[in-house]
Amino acid sequence: CGIIGILGREPVAPLLVDGLKRLEYRGYDSAGVATLEEGVLTRRRAEGKLRNLEGRLEAEPLAGHSGIGHTRWATHGAPTEANAHPHIGPGVAVVHNGIIENFRELRAELTGEGVTFATDTDTEVVCQMIGAYLGKGGTPTDAVVKTLARLEGAFALAILFDGEDDLLIGARRGSPLAVGYGEGEMYLGSDAIALAPFTSRIAYLDDGDWVVLTREGATIRDEAGMVAERAIQTSSASA
Ligand code: GLU
Repeated sequence: CGIIGILGREPVAPLLVDGLKRLEYRGYDSAGVATLEEGVLTRRRAEGKLRNLEGRLEAEPLAGHSGIGHTRWATHGAPTEANAHPHIGPGVAVVHNGIIENFRELRAELTGEGVTFATDTDTEVVCQMIGAYLGKGGTPTDAVVKTLARLEGAFALAILFDGEDDLLIGARRGSPLAVGYGEGEMYLGSDAIALAPFTSRIAYLDDGDWVVLTREGATIRDEAGMVAERAIQTSSASA
């Protein structure tokens, strides 16, 4: 139900949790974060309130300067730790708000190709499909674009890749997603409130947009793949 993504310059796990706390008002049943620890996607998840996730992180801290976080309001699959986001497929981690309407069809197709699913969520098809395209030699961006073309429904996504410490991809169809601009740091969030501790410079994605972030900035493209300029606004959300 809430998304945050950070390409930062310090350990991001506590920052991800801070951002998620600001999205608590939307309601949620479980939460999780994933970071790149020495280039490897690693995650902590928990049922229930964010303090449960914080407990996990205290017991087993997550290093890494790049990460994504999520508060989930389950639509498909029980609100368990196993179904909590981030979901991890081959080489990729995904957080998702919304519903992938055609997930059964895509899941059957991927299962037919030998993919094994670990969760009951609609979301897992997104990371398994991106992972399948990566496995066929696609770049992260190609794999995401090909996957987006297959998805039906409403979604906001934040996507992180193994071995890619300076890359974060976001996409928006139906559900809101904003890009936050820092100094040598970049952010994704469900709204400006989530990003208020980090930056007030925000660009809202239009419906159908997807965005490739590095620490240097963001390239936003529309559904047709054309580079799109989305105005950077100064948010008045208080930190
Ligand atoms: N449909 C997804 C799930 O049930 C995402 C729900 C959400 O927006 O939090 O896992």
